Amino acid sequence: MRGERTLTGLLDWYIAAGVDEAIGDRPIDRYAESARAPPKTPTPTPHAATARHDAPRTDARPPRPAAEPRLVARDQIERGAREIAAAATTLDELQAAFSAFDGCPLKQTANKFVFADGAPTARVMLIGAAPGGEEDRIGLPFVGPAGRLLDLMLAAIGLDRSTAYITNILPWRPPGNRNPTDAEIAACLPFTERHIELVAPDLLIPVGGTSAKTLLKAREGIMRLRGRWFNYAGPGLKSPIAARALLHPAYLLRSPAQKRETWQDLIQIRQRLDEIKPPQ
Ligand code: URA
Repeated sequence: MRGERTLTGLLDWYIAAGVDEAIGDRPIDRYAESARAPPKTPTPTPHAATARHDAPRTDARPPRPAAEPRLVARDQIERGAREIAAAATTLDELQAAFSAFDGCPLKQTANKFVFADGAPTARVMLIGAAPGGEEDRIGLPFVGPAGRLLDLMLAAIGLDRSTAYITNILPWRPPGNRNPTDAEIAACLPFTERHIELVAPDLLIPVGGTSAKTLLKAREGIMRLRGRWFNYAGPGLKSPIAARALLHPAYLLRSPAQKRETWQDLIQIRQRLDEIKPPQ
């Protein structure tokens, strides 16, 4: 009973501190870990000093102090990201360079690096914000409940993952599915911009508010951004790409009444595709 109360108290304390989920799939037994850990070097005492004479010599150096975390300015990270991303000339190179990039701290907590899904030759490129729990487990974007709705939305206008290309601004899941911070977005955006250049779609579809505001460089929320056409003019593009934002399917699951508006957006996207290249 008392142990139970202590455990509930500990959970309450975690929640109050903002810890709302376990990051790993399996619990870590810290007691077993500390039992396995090598004994700490004892503080020398006169008695220990004598005893060391008899112990075999190890010539082991004293452990080095842990490296100080290096503080790197945000614009330096962005500049680095831009240089690395610009050097990638294919999607494979971009994927390798992005997954090796250490400028976004989410890499430390995510399970998987989630790059993209679908056909790189697709005429439509959809970009969400960041992987959620299921995406982080599987390693593909939009495969959870929101992703299943996104597949239905695409199917409604004759598209699927063989005729559309899907990615996110961030390839790593923010813990607890929190919104990405401005710094996380800024660190990863050069890769997303290069991603768009390399795919070079006919239409760009930001999915949800975070993606729409970031890619369309807008201050308004998604409710004002949806329902309109924009020109996406990324840094390395020869000509702008027509863009239309969609409400996020996770939001549509919570607010199904908004599906009506989204249906109008989907019809516009289909019409624009057929205008650019009429069906044969
Ligand atoms: N939400 C997103 O924005 N992207 C995903 O991949 C999944 C959920």
